[in-house]
Amino acid sequence: MSTIALNIAKVGTRIREAAQAAGRSPESVGLLAVSKTQPAAAVREAFAAGLRDVGENYLQEALDKQAELTDLPLTWHFIGPIQSNKTRPIAEHFDWVHSVDRLKVAERLSAQRPAGRAPLNVCLQVNLSGEASKSGCEPDALAELARCVATLPNLRLRGLMAIPAPTDDPAEQHAAFARLRQLRDGLGLPLDTLSMGMSQDLEAAIAEGATWVRIGTALFGARDYGARP
Ligand SMILES: *Cc1c(COP(=O)(O)O)cnc(C)c1O
Repeated sequence: MSTIALNIAKVGTRIREAAQAAGRSPESVGLLAVSKTQPAAAVREAFAAGLRDVGENYLQEALDKQAELTDLPLTWHFIGPIQSNKTRPIAEHFDWVHSVDRLKVAERLSAQRPAGRAPLNVCLQVNLSGEASKSGCEPDALAELARCVATLPNLRLRGLMAIPAPTDDPAEQHAAFARLRQLRDGLGLPLDTLSMGMSQDLEAAIAEGATWVRIGTALFGARDYGARP
């Protein structure tokens, strides 16, 4: 078995155990393989081991990888910060966007979604850590943003996403993920998605209702940022 296949099996066990401990069906938690900085060959290996959903943070890197993997029926998720002048290729080349945090970006994604394609699935990214992060909509502004995004014709608003400040304290992990769930439930919209939990904290996220866990390191190993400015 390849290392990636072995890692997928291990992460699958963690997801299953966390779901069972929370009284949830393991099938209710999707595994999104975060392949930023990893070569296309690593994604191919993950596909061979059964993974179908891939998350990328950097647009050009994602487009290059997609071009090498056109033979695979993968579902592509954009999870990185979005510059408003880069929305068109995102609208054209992805199935999901987890990191929508302002109306201008949502409006452009809707307008630029190619005719005939299914609506783009979107999550609104929420900034749960205040000053510590520049990405994400402030919780105070979320209801208004969600109300507007829900009306855009070529988007399907699915739920919320967050990247809480990293902590080893399980109580703090649970509190942040519970907050995102409460924000989602408080919107009063039919939202089925909570994109939360990474390699270090997927158990807490699943306990609090995650429907996508976004996993990089635990699948592909440590990232080498040396090559990236
Ligand atoms: C890199 C990244 C991940 C994966 O993080 P790991 O700790 O490597 O599992 C998940 N979500 C986002 C938005 C990321 O940028």
